[in-house]
Amino acid sequence: MKDLTHPQNAPVVILLGPPGAGKGTQARMLEEKFGLVQLSTGDLLRAAVAAGTEAGRKAKAVMEAGDLVSDDIVLAILTDRLAEPDCATGVVLDGFPRTTGQAEALDKLLSERGQAVTTAISLEVDDVKMVVRITGRFTCGSCGEGYHKDFKPTKVAGICDMCGGTDMKQRADDNAQTVMSRLDAYHAQTAPLLRYYGEQDVLQKIDAMGPIDSVARELSTIARQLTV
Ligand code: ADP
Ligand code: AMP
Repeated sequence: MKDLTHPQNAPVVILLGPPGAGKGTQARMLEEKFGLVQLSTGDLLRAAVAAGTEAGRKAKAVMEAGDLVSDDIVLAILTDRLAEPDCATGVVLDGFPRTTGQAEALDKLLSERGQAVTTAISLEVDDVKMVVRITGRFTCGSCGEGYHKDFKPTKVAGICDMCGGTDMKQRADDNAQTVMSRLDAYHAQTAPLLRYYGEQDVLQKIDAMGPIDSVARELSTIARQLTV
């Protein structure tokens, strides 16, 4: 059994894939099942927007337009979160890095801590699927559990299965128009990371077109090997 409290053994797992690929859904599963802490830059940025911080004020319009927030802002937020003690035993990065600049900065940050990216897993889905997933997505405002109107509905309409909350939210950027900008941003700025991590020999691709449970099974097989 690996001593995961030793920084060099703490897994750093990256989930790559276009918006709607299932990164958040699967990162949450990896956190619950394997104790990897989910770090979502989208969630961190939305929290900054809601709190009205300077970074949040700068990010708001960019996010609403479906463009990428500047590397400086994202890196500052991510670096602070990664330094928190709960991240010491392993993380799953969801939605980060999204540019080559972010990937290089992450490598530098990790190497200063005696760490490196353990694996970058690409969730492979086509563009049509991604639009359907995004436009049907909703989230519990109380506990953050994610749902989909057709693929993962709540058991009782309007009530969260996890916490019983009734404050269901749809993201402002989950509309058909913004989705196309987000998809363009993915292809132009994030897809090159497949090559980046391929060259580092840490890239694994999995088919994410199937149902949530079958993607979760494949990911669990990978995660099990990293955490034992
Ligand atoms: P991402 O974090 O990559 O943007 P999410 O995990 O939020 O994507 O998933 C987007 C939407 O698609 C959510 O509503 C989620 O419930 C649903 N979803 C995720 N994975 C699958 C899947 N394999 N099959 C069907 N729906 C899925
Ligand atoms: P997500 O929750 O991952 O779908 O991200 C929502 C939005 O937040 C994106 O469309 C971007 O505007 C912004 N965002 C999230 N993560 C990043 C990142 N790593 N780099 C730049 N922008 C990001």
